[in-house]
Amino acid sequence: METRVLKSTNENIKYCAELIKRGEVVGIPTETVYGLAANAFNENAVMKIFKAKKRPADNPLIVHIADMDMLRELAEDIPDTALEVCKKFWPGPITVVLPKSDRIPLVTSGGLNTVGIRLPSNNVARELIRICGLPLAAPSANLSGSPSPTTANHVFDDMNGRIPAILDGGSCSVGVESTVISFEGDIIRLLRPGKISVDDLKTVASDVVVDKGVLEIISNDASVKSPGMKYKHYSPKADVTLISGSVEFFEQYVAKHNSAGTYALIFDSDDISDSIKAVRFGDSSEQQAERIFAVLREIDKIGAERVYARCPSKEGVGLAVYNRMLRAAGFKVIKEGD
Ligand code: AMP
Ligand code: MG
Repeated sequence: METRVLKSTNENIKYCAELIKRGEVVGIPTETVYGLAANAFNENAVMKIFKAKKRPADNPLIVHIADMDMLRELAEDIPDTALEVCKKFWPGPITVVLPKSDRIPLVTSGGLNTVGIRLPSNNVARELIRICGLPLAAPSANLSGSPSPTTANHVFDDMNGRIPAILDGGSCSVGVESTVISFEGDIIRLLRPGKISVDDLKTVASDVVVDKGVLEIISNDASVKSPGMKYKHYSPKADVTLISGSVEFFEQYVAKHNSAGTYALIFDSDDISDSIKAVRFGDSSEQQAERIFAVLREIDKIGAERVYARCPSKEGVGLAVYNRMLRAAGFKVIKEGD
């Protein structure tokens, strides 16, 4: 199948809405990362997403909506805290996990009786959902396991020949996937960190619990609250190691292990020896979130074999960057002073 990359003009958005209504899968921009969108009610269409991504069937899809009426159609027993989260942070990069209504097929929810729902702020995504008049199941538009796509070209690299069209809406402004949360009374459980941070969530909940899966290895057969967290993720082909500590420690460590295929992944303001090849990924956590996935793709393109990465801050959206890099590194962290 030929994969067309289309500018997100009104005409092309309408064309993609037609494809989706016919049960096809389309690559779409959102403010977080690009998604692979299909009609969330149509089992066959949703199965095409899993096939295109080579995604395990028990990894649930996030359902994207354009207004609060759709939320009430898809979820049941919505707690007040969830409504407050939606009121405060939607449209935006946060997904709420709620008991699902019968309208959501089990294929979409990965066999769970809950569903993750999000109302994106990206205008192209919202316009597309509105024209379809349907909720759109849309996981990240990468092949399962590889870094999430933040440009239409990244989607094309992974999906060429696997889907009919990609809507090009430029690069994603947030750059990491949505924050995913569930509710236990008026307590929020953070299942996946994103742009909406723990501190943001504390403004609406009595407490915020960070799920174990955010920072620890979850074994593949463990029953986990956020199934996506148990899979190997975001992994470039290169062998990545995170180095936690000062830039001086980082430089010494990399110099000791430096060879032809070695690259350093460092902050923009880091000053290290010219004898170490370096790729930079920003200074602030916001910049790092925006660039991390593009950089992980870039290090594969330049043929890096071993990558030593500076450990990002865990504050704010930094926790999301750290969480993704930890997975890219297969949880290998070298700590200064250990
Ligand atoms: P992706 O859209 O590729 O970013 O993946 C969606 C991720 O959201 C999944 O891998 C899960 O970790 C999480 N998620 C989606 N739906 C649920 C749900 N019903 N319960 C828990 N986590 C969910
Ligand atoms: Mg994903």
